[in-house]
Amino acid sequence: MTTYGLLITGSGPAGVSAAEAYADAGGPGPVALLTADPHAPYERPPLSKNALTSPGDVEPTPITEATLPDGVDVRLGATVTAVDLGARTVQVGGETLTFERLVVATGSTPLPLPGAEEDAEIHALRSLQDGRDLARAAQHARTALVIGSGFIGCEAAASLARSGLDVTLVTPEDAPQQERLGSYAAQQISSWLADLGVDVRTGVEVTSVHAPRTVHLSDGHTLAPDLVLAALGIAPQGDLLGDAGALTYEGRVVADEHLQAAPGVWVAGDIARGLHAIAGRALAVEHWGDALAMGAVAGRNAAVGDDGEQERWEEVPGFWSTIGEHTLQYAAWGDGYDREEVVGRVGGFTIWYADAADTLVGVLTYNADADYERGRRLIAAGAGIAEAMRGDDIPELRGGRKTCNLC
Ligand SMILES: Cc1cc2nc3c(=O)[nH]c(=O)nc-3n(C[C@H](O)[C@H](O)[C@H](O)COP(=O)(O)OP(=O)(O)OC[C@H]3O[C@@H](n4cnc5c(N)ncnc54)[C@H](O)[C@@H]3O)c2cc1C
Repeated sequence: MTTYGLLITGSGPAGVSAAEAYADAGGPGPVALLTADPHAPYERPPLSKNALTSPGDVEPTPITEATLPDGVDVRLGATVTAVDLGARTVQVGGETLTFERLVVATGSTPLPLPGAEEDAEIHALRSLQDGRDLARAAQHARTALVIGSGFIGCEAAASLARSGLDVTLVTPEDAPQQERLGSYAAQQISSWLADLGVDVRTGVEVTSVHAPRTVHLSDGHTLAPDLVLAALGIAPQGDLLGDAGALTYEGRVVADEHLQAAPGVWVAGDIARGLHAIAGRALAVEHWGDALAMGAVAGRNAAVGDDGEQERWEEVPGFWSTIGEHTLQYAAWGDGYDREEVVGRVGGFTIWYADAADTLVGVLTYNADADYERGRRLIAAGAGIAEAMRGDDIPELRGGRKTCNLC
């Protein structure tokens, strides 16, 4: 029986980037990448953006930021059903595969809508197939209801409206993204959605959905749209390793600052709850670029192995979001803030976020790329919000933050 030098589960950005980094670092083969997805690796972000507004079938956008090396045994439609950390095996389609090292990057799945009948027609948006199903349904629809005001909900609502549908978005928040980004950003997003004709109904929850698409709301209204998309957030898929005995927290696999979860096992992307080397605490991130960055750390660390010099996870988390024609960029530790300061920029704005000690913990920019780049460095350096607003140079690294790749 073949023993794989490295087995990777998951063909999202974390898995692909781990494969590339492992090969670049000279990790021993053979290498196999096992993925439940029947399609070759593709980008998810376009699925709520331009893919939804383009005519015709949704074509996959291949991942370009990382490339699967030649010689990797890629198995599509191969769901790993169990991992045995002692025997160093995985179960896939009735087969047992043995590994020396394992990178698990199984990502997330969309949260289901509570209160919906089993046969209610409710779209979710995660995979290429989901994107195709949603786009096809949209081509035959006149009205759409989007449930949830996270980034995917806002992006999809904007895209559906741009495709000519009458779109309603319902959210329990007072304004889209208010909890995460604060009032100013929330009002901007609301106005962008309103400009596209999206009817945003705030402070409202779905109480039940009767098949096929009769939606009852907490404000007493009932809607019967041609299409329903639930965008309520995600459930990280950490159970595969959790069932094998690894420590999990809220569905994520707990890992050290090298993203190692057990001897010979590394995790990356949405399922990881890694100890961030600069933040000095465990972080959970759900972003494309971070999945790529974490996958690269996991892949390189798998290549050097348990006894080699392991690299730390140090990248400041961040993402971008495009709502209609408006692109926001955000970098932050992602676990909250106490104070926000808005600064106007020509045709845009910057919001600086700080904790109770006035340390910068996040930056959100719209048409202010220079602030975004500078903000990431300042966050990594532990700068104060006053320094960020004054436009000071990046300060010396502070105690507790020993290294900073970005500085
Ligand atoms: C519509 C949409 C738009 C987005 N837009 C943005 C954006 O604009 N900016 C941004 O930063 N982020 C965005 N994201 C989030 C981003 O795509 C995710 O954070 C990223 O894909 C996470 O990467 P990952 O590799 O951890 O997991 P995933 O990309 O979820 O990949 C997980 C892989 O694991 C496989 N898998 C799962 N279970 C098993 C198993 N048991 N056995 C084998 N394989 C398994 C899956 O099939 C999949 O291939 C978006 C996400 C969606 C869905």
